[in-house]
Amino acid sequence: MPGGTDQTLRPFLWRAERLFDDTEIVSRTSEGIERYTYAEYGDRVRQLANALDELGIEEGDRVGTFCWNHHRHFETYFSIPSMGAQLHTINPLLPRDHIRYIVDNAADRVLFVDPSLLEALEPAVQSPEFDQVEKYVVMASEVPETDLDAVAYEEFVEGHSTEYDWPEVSQDQPAGMCYTSGTTGNPKGVEYTQQMLWSHTMESLTPQGIPMDEDDVVMPVVPMFHVNAWGMPFTATAGGAKHVYPGPSPQPEDLASLIDEEGVTVTAGVPTVWLGLMEYCEDNDVDLSALDRVIVGGSAAPRSMIEWFDERGVELLHAWGMTEMGPIGSVAHLKSGLEDADRETQLEKRSKQGLMTPGLEFRVVDDDGEEVPWNGEDFGELWVRGPSVTTEYFERPEADEEDFEDGWLKTGDVVTVDEDGYIKIVDRAKDVIKSGGEWISSVELENAIMAHEDVSEATVIGVPHEKWQERPVAFVVPVEGADQAAVEKGVMDLLADEYPDWWLPDDVVFIEEVPKTATGKFSKKDLREEYADEDIFEGSAPEEAAPEDAE
Ligand code: AMP
Repeated sequence: MPGGTDQTLRPFLWRAERLFDDTEIVSRTSEGIERYTYAEYGDRVRQLANALDELGIEEGDRVGTFCWNHHRHFETYFSIPSMGAQLHTINPLLPRDHIRYIVDNAADRVLFVDPSLLEALEPAVQSPEFDQVEKYVVMASEVPETDLDAVAYEEFVEGHSTEYDWPEVSQDQPAGMCYTSGTTGNPKGVEYTQQMLWSHTMESLTPQGIPMDEDDVVMPVVPMFHVNAWGMPFTATAGGAKHVYPGPSPQPEDLASLIDEEGVTVTAGVPTVWLGLMEYCEDNDVDLSALDRVIVGGSAAPRSMIEWFDERGVELLHAWGMTEMGPIGSVAHLKSGLEDADRETQLEKRSKQGLMTPGLEFRVVDDDGEEVPWNGEDFGELWVRGPSVTTEYFERPEADEEDFEDGWLKTGDVVTVDEDGYIKIVDRAKDVIKSGGEWISSVELENAIMAHEDVSEATVIGVPHEKWQERPVAFVVPVEGADQAAVEKGVMDLLADEYPDWWLPDDVVFIEEVPKTATGKFSKKDLREEYADEDIFEGSAPEEAAPEDAE
C-alpha cells in the first residue's frame, strides 16, 4: 500500500520552518556576514519561486548555479526542486570548454552566478555564439559590469509574494544534477530525482551516516557545486540545525573564526582544507572547543589528521562517496565492540573508508567477476547500489554499459573489506587525478601534450602530494634532436592556454619511451610505481591555483 505522499524535499523545509523558525542561517558573503532565520529563509525561498515562475520556469526545466557556499545559493536548493524544476550545480573550477559543454548539455534556462565567478563564466558562455541561457542572476544586491543579460538576485526576488502554492511533485521528478569528470571525453551528468535526494538525506541522518540535528551548527566547507555539498544543506535542514555558509574561497582564518564565533559543531570538507586549518591553528590561538565532529572525504584522510583532531577532542569521521551516489556511501564509525579495542586497532579502522551507510548494498568483484571474501586482503572493484545511487548517466548510453551492471554502479575504486566490514581503498581503476578534491583528466592532458609537434609520446600520472593529495606530472618522449627546454616551455604554454592553472603538471620529465602493457597501451602502473616518491620532483603545485576549498 503506498504512503500518503511521495518522497520529496519539501517536507524537510516545512518541518524546519515550523519547528525551528528562529534558528539561524549565517552566511559569509563578499558583502559581509548575513544572518536570518528559517522563517525568513522560507519566505525568501517562496519569493524566489515566484520570481522564477514569472520568468516562465516550469516543472522539468533546468536551472544552473555557478556559486560558492552562501545563503542565496542555499535558497535555490529548496526553491528550484520544490517547484518541480531541476537544480543544476556547476563546478566553476573546470576548464572553460567543460563549463560550456555542461551548460549546453543540461540546457540550463537560467544561471545563478556569483559576482566573483562572472570572469570564469563569461568566456565559457560568450563567443562563439551561445544563447541557450535566457537570464543570468548575479548573487548580489547589484550587478557588476558584465556583457551578460544579468539581473541582481535581490532585485530579482524583491517585491514577490512570500506565499507560493507548491505543486505536488512526483518522487521520480529529477530535482538535482551534477556533472562528474570521467577518464576520457566530456563530463558525465548525474541526475538526482526527488526520491534519491530524500533517500540520501535519510541515510545521512542515521547514526551510521553523518547525523545532525537541532543542537548542531553545521558548516559545509565542501562546495555546494560539488554534489550538493555532500547533501549537507538538505540533511542540516531535515535535522533542524543552524547553518553556516563560509562564502567564496574561504581561507583557514575565515573557517577558524566562523567555528569560534558561530559555535560550529559539525563541518565537512576534503583533506586539503583541514591541512590548511591545522597549519593555521599551530601558529594562531584558535578556539575549536565548539567543534564536535569533522567529516573528511573526497580523498583519503591521513591518519595523522585523525590523531590531530582527537587531541583536540574533535571526532574526525572519514567518509567515502561519489557524485553518482549523492554522494555519501560509507563512513568510518567505530563499530560496536570496537570501543574497547586498543588505540592502534581503532585508528586503523577509522583510517579506512568505513562502513556502508544503511540503505546501501555493496559487493567487491575481482577480475574474474567473482566476489572477494571479507578478509582485509583480497581486493577487487567496489560495486554499490541503493535508492540514492544512480543507475545511468544523463544522455550517455555508451558510458552506461561500462559503468553500470544490473542496477550496480561500478565505482572504479579498488578495495579490500575486512572481517568487520570496513572498506579500504587500495587503488583506483579509473585513470584520473584528484588534486585538492577536484578531478584532472590525465588523458585530456596527454592528448593536448601529444599535439605538440616536437613530442612523439606523452603520458600524465598523478603522484602523491602532501598538501593536494595528488598532482599531475607529465612524462614526455621528445622527437629526436628536439631541444628539451624548448619542448617543455612549448608544452606548458600550450596547456596554459587551454586549462586552468591547477591542471598544469608540476613537472615535465623527459624519458626515452613510455612503458607499454602487453597490448601496447601506456602502462601508467609501472610509472606510478617508479615515481611513487613525491620528493623526486622539483616543481610544486602553484599555491593559489589549486582548488583549496574544493571537494
Ligand atoms: P567525486 O565523484 O568527485 O565525489 O569523486 C569520487 C571518488 O573520489 C571516489 O570514487 C574515490 O575515488 C575518491 N574518494 C572519495 N572519497 C574518498 C576517500 N575518503 N578516500 C579515498 N578516495 C576517496
